[in-house]
Amino acid sequence: MISTLAIIGGGATGVGALMAAIQHEVAGSIYVIDPRPIGGVVFGTTDDEIICNTSVDITTLDPDNEDDFLEYLKSRQLNVSKTSYTTRRIVGEYIKDRFDEYSEKAKLIGIDVKYLNFVCRKVLINNYKYQLVLSDRFRQEELNAESVIICTGHGAPKVP
Ligand SMILES: Cc1cc2nc3c(=O)[nH]c(=O)nc-3n(C[C@H](O)[C@H](O)[C@H](O)COP(=O)(O)OP(=O)(O)OC[C@H]3O[C@@H](n4cnc5c(N)ncnc54)[C@H](O)[C@@H]3O)c2cc1C
Repeated sequence: MISTLAIIGGGATGVGALMAAIQHEVAGSIYVIDPRPIGGVVFGTTDDEIICNTSVDITTLDPDNEDDFLEYLKSRQLNVSKTSYTTRRIVGEYIKDRFDEYSEKAKLIGIDVKYLNFVCRKVLINNYKYQLVLSDRFRQEELNAESVIICTGHGAPKVP
């Protein structure tokens, strides 16, 4: 087990990476860095009219459980099947809820998970370790990590 893992980005990819890191107990401390709330760009919407272009059966954050999203929806008493299409907002809630649940699970096995509401400006390599330069509107901070996973997505969609 390494001491510190930094995950840059708290969208679907970042939270999927976090879940796997906790399941496999890869680090004692895990930082998820994102200036946005957990959920990411596309699934961060609050608009209830935007439907996913992917069905429930091909949506999961857990590579070992392809029905993870379906089970989540059923746990919320939503009337869905594998072939249903949900809204993007619900996928955003799934990402956020799994983040919260796995952060709690991590605590029980001695892994500390922290969400840092910062942009990661730079990742420097220093003596085989990583030094991350983080900032928000008011301050700049540094974070040292043994491993880094970059999950920054492709940015907000725009008309070309
Ligand atoms: C219009 C549109 C519709 C889509 N619809 C679907 C769909 O229905 N189903 C589907 O499976 N996929 C869909 N996708 C693809 C979808 O974007 C991905 O499946 C998923 O959201 C990617 O998650 P991600 O975590 O990689 O990226 P994102 O959701 O983009 O998350 C990346 C995160 O990284 C953060 N970040 C970026 N740079 C930094 C930095 N320097 N420091 C710290 N944090 C940073 C961002 O703030 C963001 O929260 C769609 C994409 C688009 C553009």
